[in-house]
Amino acid sequence: SSDSAPIRATLFPGDGIGPEIAESVKQVFKGAEVPIEWEEHYVGDQIDPRTQSFLTWESLESVRRNGVGLKGPMATPIGKGHRSLNLTLRKELNLYANVRPCYSLSGYKTRYDDVNLITIRENTEGEYSGLEHQVVRGVVESLKIITRQASLRVAEYAFHYAKTHGRERVSAIHKANIMQKTDGLFLKCCREVAEKYPEITYKEVVIDNCCMMLVKNPALFDVLVMPNLYGDIISDLCAGLIGGLGLTPSCNIGEGGIALAEAVHGSAPDIAGKNLANPTALLLSAVTMLRHLNLHDKADRIQNAILNTIAEGKYRTADLGGSSTTTDFTRAICDHL
Ligand code: NAD
Repeated sequence: SSDSAPIRATLFPGDGIGPEIAESVKQVFKGAEVPIEWEEHYVGDQIDPRTQSFLTWESLESVRRNGVGLKGPMATPIGKGHRSLNLTLRKELNLYANVRPCYSLSGYKTRYDDVNLITIRENTEGEYSGLEHQVVRGVVESLKIITRQASLRVAEYAFHYAKTHGRERVSAIHKANIMQKTDGLFLKCCREVAEKYPEITYKEVVIDNCCMMLVKNPALFDVLVMPNLYGDIISDLCAGLIGGLGLTPSCNIGEGGIALAEAVHGSAPDIAGKNLANPTALLLSAVTMLRHLNLHDKADRIQNAILNTIAEGKYRTADLGGSSTTTDFTRAICDHL
């Protein structure tokens, strides 16, 4: 409750439109009296030898210490000799699951108005293990790594998420008919975890069929859990169902219960500094962070204010066909709190 001591959370405003939309989050959190104290960290302009990246060891320590954080978009620095920012975060914080809630926003019309699903993507292995090489000229090989440990961990997270968020079904997405060993092991782990959650309905759906079902009737799904590559694709497909990356929140879950929420979109250099950015995705990401902290009252209050502002249609940013500035849209959300 707001009577207790404030919770410290790390904030990376990020690049481009990042600082503008992060400001919007700070305003809305203030308006809703969220008991959070932000610890702000910026991406440096020099490589920190301890992280081999532009992210400093101190900023990673901040997330580790606080256990929760919110990250704005970060522009990928060009040049050699350093690790990408997102890779640094993923590796250093062991962010093993990427969680994306996708629900229809009333007032923003898309093909479906009953989308309400959660994609949970394994984030550390699979086809993204970075093990590619040339066997002989004209023949290359890419290794897809699936481990029991990482599969059980993400499956456990998915079922636990379903149980604690009032969800009824978990679908494991796979291609085990072809990738018998790798996807087969992934499924085996999901089945093992499913047995511990008899109250959750467990289904296995082949990835190609899943794509068709999603575009024909997204209401067929609830929580989806899948290996890295399928998760990358399906989570974008689901974002498209509700109106695009500008509206889609996400949260990365790490070892030891770390949660680092982030918008799915990039730094939008074309509109940066112009007060035109839509802060919705970062705001909804901040809402997932509040839910992780079990601050559901605050999360509901902010989420409803955002949805009502969009539904009312009076204030909308340009990407949603309106002409409001970031600050006007933010003020409207604060008025709806
Ligand atoms: P982008 O998402 O930044 O922009 C794509 C288009 O969407 C642009 O026209 C942009 O104006 C628009 N857009 C994006 N977010 C918006 C918002 N909140 N409100 C209104 N319009 C929005 O993708 P890009 O141009 O391919 O990438 C730009 C930079 O962002 C690159 O440096 C890239 O590496 C980085 N990036 C970072 C992340 C991340 O940090 N997670 C993700 C993707 C891209």
